Amino acid sequence: MILVYVDHDRGTLDELSLQAITAARGLDSDVQAVMVGSDAVALAPRLGEFGVGTVHVAADPRITDYTPMASGRALASAAQQVSPAAVLAVGSPRGNEVLAHAAAVLDEPFAAECTEISLGAGVATVTRNRWAGNVLETARVHAPMLIASVAAHAFATESIPGAAPASVVEFSPELTDADLAVRVVDRVGSGGGGVSLAEAKVIVSGGRGVGEGGFGPLEELAELLGGTVGCSRVVTSAGWRPHAEQVGQTGTKVAPDLYFAIGISGATQHIAGCKNAKTMIAINTDPEATIMSYADYAIVGDAGQIMPAIVDAVRAAKG
Ligand SMILES: Cc1cc2nc3c(=O)[nH]c(=O)nc-3n(C[C@H](O)[C@H](O)[C@H](O)COP(=O)(O)OP(=O)(O)OC[C@H]3O[C@@H](n4cnc5c(N)ncnc54)[C@H](O)[C@@H]3O)c2cc1C
Repeated sequence: MILVYVDHDRGTLDELSLQAITAARGLDSDVQAVMVGSDAVALAPRLGEFGVGTVHVAADPRITDYTPMASGRALASAAQQVSPAAVLAVGSPRGNEVLAHAAAVLDEPFAAECTEISLGAGVATVTRNRWAGNVLETARVHAPMLIASVAAHAFATESIPGAAPASVVEFSPELTDADLAVRVVDRVGSGGGGVSLAEAKVIVSGGRGVGEGGFGPLEELAELLGGTVGCSRVVTSAGWRPHAEQVGQTGTKVAPDLYFAIGISGATQHIAGCKNAKTMIAINTDPEATIMSYADYAIVGDAGQIMPAIVDAVRAAKG
């Protein structure tokens, strides 16, 4: 049996966690899940649609938002009770953090960012992303129970039409005040229009070449295409856009259907976050910029002139 930690946020299942369920189904037909928080009970049955039989829910009323140490302890407690062959979560910042806490509680190793997993008796073999995905490492993990996160977008979400709702089993892990010390206490709006960067199908991303005052047409295009704005680290470091919009090794890893890279040079650390885009359009004054070799469509020119023209054309095409 494989146990998957499934994240959720303010009443919505985490889409990326559903990819970890697909990875688990490739290892064993018996997949169970753990969810944590007072509002998890209502969401848990939906996991049946993705192949989960049973969801263990720690519906502690003290957990009303993301609480990583408590979630890690709850996950460890469930794993001790049901003894799975592996404990998985998606390799999002939150998934990795919760698994790291669970592994510390269980005193077991943790393999992060796996793209392939195979299980054997007491030893698992994993392939995982290292150096921002530039190196794939194959490693053997010697442990009675593999604890591993699967790299975001390495597996697709797969639903099972007509599957029965998952059954829900509530449990009460012993949580101390220290487990609740790290928690969300406030949220500051990003102005991102409600489409999350990690899940957006269209991302209009800007770099230094867009300039501090040049993001207006990028916002307009993102809105017209139902997407969201992203950016490079130079842009967040300069304070032009919030860190939440940063794509890359130290930002968000994305896999949209369409990625615009505008005035972005294509540094390794940026490519690490956007190389899973299905289609990339780059706009750059420099035809030799690295990003141009990754792009499906490369437009050589000044973003300040090209972007308003694209916005006008898309608006006209939409009527
Ligand atoms: C440990 C570490 C982690 C990092 N993590 C990240 C990360 O997560 N994400 C990230 O993005 N970076 C990251 N970086 C930084 C990264 O190395 C680059 O410095 C950064 O990505 C460059 O940003 P940029 O492409 O916007 O700027 P630049 O490299 O300065 O490129 C600007 C581009 O704009 C073009 N340009 C200029 N004017 C115009 C115009 N008018 N129209 C069109 N194009 C124009 C130029 O030709 C150039 O290609 C990290 C670095 C380190 C060391």
